[in-house]
Amino acid sequence: PTVVKRIAAGEIIVQPANALKELLENAIDAGSTMIDVLVKDGGLKLLQLNDNGCGIAREDMPLLCERFTTSKLLRFEDLSLISTYGFRGEALASISHIARLSVVSKIAESPLAYKCYYTNGQTATLKFKQDPNCKPQPVAGNGGTQITVEDLFYNLPSRLHSLRSKNDEWIKILEVLGRYAVHSEGVGFSCKKMGEPHPSISTRPNASLKERIRTVFGTSVASELIEFDFPCEEFGLSSIKGAVSGFNYNNKRKIQPVLFINNRLVMCDPLKRAINSVFQVFLPKGNHPFVYLSLLIEPQNVDVNVHPTKQEVRFLFEDEILEWICGKIHDVLSERDN
Ligand code: ADP
Ligand code: MG
Repeated sequence: PTVVKRIAAGEIIVQPANALKELLENAIDAGSTMIDVLVKDGGLKLLQLNDNGCGIAREDMPLLCERFTTSKLLRFEDLSLISTYGFRGEALASISHIARLSVVSKIAESPLAYKCYYTNGQTATLKFKQDPNCKPQPVAGNGGTQITVEDLFYNLPSRLHSLRSKNDEWIKILEVLGRYAVHSEGVGFSCKKMGEPHPSISTRPNASLKERIRTVFGTSVASELIEFDFPCEEFGLSSIKGAVSGFNYNNKRKIQPVLFINNRLVMCDPLKRAINSVFQVFLPKGNHPFVYLSLLIEPQNVDVNVHPTKQEVRFLFEDEILEWICGKIHDVLSERDN
């Protein structure tokens, strides 16, 4: 069964960036205003997050990596109404099956932080030997949580070999982190490669959207940025916020749309194609638009049952919603040209 769970975990987390996404969402859910990430060897050797969120109580630590352990689900019926990022209670459990996981956490009420090691869904000794009797150890620590993932895929050599290079994995990590940094208002992020003096991405908690976009995607994308916030009450949509840019004719770099639905980073090819076709009317050939979109949709209209690695999302009234959004972006762009 351990091997089965390991293989299942390797299907959910296929590259370090998948683990990072889950850990970032947990840190954001915990109400953090600052999240610092440290990476070694593209996240394969080390992926460490420090947050200043609510922390994890000592008594909750032993069960943290048991499957379906989640503090975000009060009743089973709530499953269809989840609006926080987490709803499965599987991320930490999965990671513990395919990496050496340790957690240090301190809640405000406790004078001490506590540390636990995990393997195969259970607490472990310092040497990552499974031992359900291991107790959280008191350690010094700041408020918040530190999650350390070491030697990802150490026990799944096939997965390790299927990855391309450490640098490719590092680039994907920066991509995921950058997108969350753009989207997460009120949260600062930093992402540093171990051994480097400065972080590769660093945003301030109170930075404006424009500043966050400039920090992550550069000055040329941030200049001539048009921000929008459309009220909408049709098709189960409650809000459409975002920004577009790309009319500065230097922007030759292609940036995949930054799309969040109900605060989860997702991909939606139909939406991508639709937006690109609107832009084609306005952009000179060879220039690429930048699009950031954050949609809030009635949770029961979104298919939450998507595989975590396939970030492709499905929702009801897709055609109507795409048309509505494209119409609005078209209006924004024509207004600008007048
Ligand atoms: P989910 O996010 O779906 O609940 P996870 O396996 O990702 O499941 O996390 C399990 C639980 O661990 C969360 O519900 C939360 O209570 C706790 N947790 C994980 N990461 C953090 C964090 N950074 N800060 C506070 N609590 C956390
Ligand atoms: Mg989670």
